Amino acid sequence: CGIVGYIGYRDACPIVIKGLHRLEYRGYDSAGIALGEGGLKLFKKAGKVSDLEDHIADQNLAGTIGMGHTRWATHGAPSDRNSHPHTSGDGKLAIIHNGIIENYAVLKEALIAKGHEFKSDTDTEVLIHLIEEIKDVTGLELREAVRLALNRVVGAYAIVIMSEDEPDELIAARKGSPMVIGVGEGEYFIASDATPIVEYTNNVIYLNDNEIAYIRRDDLLIKNIDNTVQVPYIQELELKLEM
Ligand code: GLU
Repeated sequence: CGIVGYIGYRDACPIVIKGLHRLEYRGYDSAGIALGEGGLKLFKKAGKVSDLEDHIADQNLAGTIGMGHTRWATHGAPSDRNSHPHTSGDGKLAIIHNGIIENYAVLKEALIAKGHEFKSDTDTEVLIHLIEEIKDVTGLELREAVRLALNRVVGAYAIVIMSEDEPDELIAARKGSPMVIGVGEGEYFIASDATPIVEYTNNVIYLNDNEIAYIRRDDLLIKNIDNTVQVPYIQELELKLEM
């Protein structure tokens, strides 16, 4: 139900956790986080963001790229293993997702026939396996595999993807679920709405339906899922947080 992402020069973890707290008002049953530095570090828990914080208290949380999620379960009961992020079969890709992949059952069946094994009951895990499958079969780069996968998805989504092999990039996309990108200097923020972003920057891009954002510290490329490059429209937020 809530998404937060960060890529830049600061520690991602405190920014992501704080952002998840800001999105708590939307309601949720589980929370999770992925941090990228020396591989992907994933932590997830059914319960509150504060339970996740307790869970990660003794962990190495270094990393200037990360993403976090609060889940409102639609497919699969609230549980640690159904919490996001979810990973590809090889564990190198991680996804967080708000929304519903409506054709997940058909996709899942086809992927199981190709040897994929699933660790959760969610629709979300199917999408990251589909991306992995397309990437492996076609040999295309991740960016393109994500785009092709999204063309096969029916439903609503706001997603963020991280890859162990692309440790300097977040890939975000939306269709029918909101997604805002905060534009800083040498850093970008992602969130379901502007509340986690306003304390860092007033410059935001509202991602449109069917758009994918490829976000690096010093570069932002937005494409439509039909592969046309979009010109990002940076808006200034009027809303200011009084604290
Ligand atoms: N459909 C996904 C799930 O059940 C995402 C739910 C959400 O929007 O939080 O895990």
